[in-house]
Amino acid sequence: MLAEQIKAGDRRALAKAITLVESTRADHGDQATALLETLMPHTGNSIRLGISGAPGVGKSTFIEALGNYLTEQGHRVAVLAVDPTSAVSGGSILGDKTRMETLSVNPNAFVRPSPAGKTLGGVTRRTRESLLLCEAAGFDVIIIETVGVGQSETAVSDMTDMFLLLLSPGGGDDLQGIKRGIMELADLVLVNKADGDQAHLANQTVSDYGAALHFMQARTPSWTPRIQSCSALHNQGVAEVWQTAQEFRSALTDSGELLTLRAQQARAWMWSETAEALIADLKNHATVKALVPELERAVLAGELPAIVAAQTLIKHYKASE
Ligand code: GDP
Repeated sequence: MLAEQIKAGDRRALAKAITLVESTRADHGDQATALLETLMPHTGNSIRLGISGAPGVGKSTFIEALGNYLTEQGHRVAVLAVDPTSAVSGGSILGDKTRMETLSVNPNAFVRPSPAGKTLGGVTRRTRESLLLCEAAGFDVIIIETVGVGQSETAVSDMTDMFLLLLSPGGGDDLQGIKRGIMELADLVLVNKADGDQAHLANQTVSDYGAALHFMQARTPSWTPRIQSCSALHNQGVAEVWQTAQEFRSALTDSGELLTLRAQQARAWMWSETAEALIADLKNHATVKALVPELERAVLAGELPAIVAAQTLIKHYKASE
């Protein structure tokens, strides 16, 4: 029933399904898994875009501009988020303000804030599942936004086809506090706020970073990372970003790399799910639970090598299978 409504593109049904996926209740978990299995054949038909950048660089303004542009072109756009701060502190960098006001009410868009979660792994897992649900609901452009110190960017790049990094004009050598590792994830670097007084500086930044990009290792043989400028606030350069995204998709589709990339992502996801589930099961295991306090104490005190403690836990876990 819910599956049918989702396939029909019903946004309320989609929101309900995502709530199911995000729930920590075991029965909800089972329903969510069954739903994902039913909908699996209807997934995959989107371009998956990851977007990151420091707070204030203009991510939500840009996503709103791109999203509204795309819906005008007849696309259906879903926006999801991975907010690592909700995992760490319970607070949120992305979610606290009112964001994307026009896109949220656009009938051809679906905007969902980051799920709350205790671990980044938990947050990204739910986002992956939500992504599949959005595809099943007929959204053909999925944007996943994040902001973080590296791990969340890696997680988002592991679930998307193309990764966009937003920068502000200026910056110089320090990459604006953006770690080099994140820069290396980018298929497209966008210098936002290329307007007014900052237009000239933005062009300068494009040439500075453009030179640096040439020395970066390309992520895939069929695509060389690019750099462009835009003004999300004035809707300039936004259509050009979409043009680049389409070129990216064609290049990776023609070379067969898109399929390989997604297949590898799915396999990696399988193993991370397995690892998470095993750890959770192990930690819940009665004998293991009883052993943990003493083993942790001994490891903390430096009396026992961590590897020995780990082997002890696993031995007892396996013994009573
Ligand atoms: P986020 O934290 O990365 O999501 O950034 P926001 O989208 O909330 O934007 C932060 C501030 O920058 C807001 O005041 C925006 O109006 C402003 N801003 C965003 N894009 C542009 C732009 O292209 N040009 C200018 N001048 N300001 C912008």
